[in-house]
Order: sequence, then structure tokens, then C-alpha cells
Amino acid sequence: MSLRFAWIGVWLAACGTPEVSPVEPAVSAPSEKAHASAEVVPGSHEDWCGEHSVPESQCTQCNGSLIAAFKATGDWCEEHGVPESQCRTCNPDLKIERPPKATP
Ligand SMILES: [Zn+2]
Ligand SMILES: [Zn+2]
Repeated sequence: MSLRFAWIGVWLAACGTPEVSPVEPAVSAPSEKAHASAEVVPGSHEDWCGEHSVPESQCTQCNGSLIAAFKATGDWCEEHGVPESQCRTCNPDLKIERPPKATP
């Protein structure tokens, strides 16, 4: 076995620099964040939960403390555990539009 590895070494040396496959850079930063940070202005383009397709400031699935407020106004779907106004299961025609980006 060792003879075979030695032969490969000779072959590489004979060919000069062996072709090195470039290392793929790890893609760590997605272009669009799924969740807004806490500092965004509610109702702005940045205030958006990409995971649940609702404004982040109204996303009860990300922020459970919002649930009580929705329940208090009767805007709650017990069956699906989301505000009725966000329940796409009960309201298939429901469209929650992401606010457009503010133009400077
Ligand atoms: Zn969410
Ligand atoms: Zn529902």
C-alpha cells in the first residue's frame, strides 16, 4: 500500500502544482432576515415576520405576549392559535401585505 501512495506523490510532484479545488465560502448571512429586530418601527417594511408572513410587531407566533391583547379584542382563532385577522386557514382569501419600503 505504501508503495502506491509514494507513486501518487511522485506523480503530483511531476505535474507541478496539483489542482486545488477552491473552498466554498460558508454562506452565513441570508439576504433577507426572517425576523425583524426589536428596534424596527411597527408598520414599516422592516416590521415583518418572514416566517409567518405577518407584521413582526403583530406576530403572536414569535411573541406570545401579544396573544392576550388579540384575545381581549375578540380577534382570536382558538382552533388555529392565531389572531382571526391573521388566520389564513379560516380565511383563505386573507392577504396580509408587507408595507412597501420607505423611500428616502
Ligand atoms: Zn413570526
Ligand atoms: Zn383559524
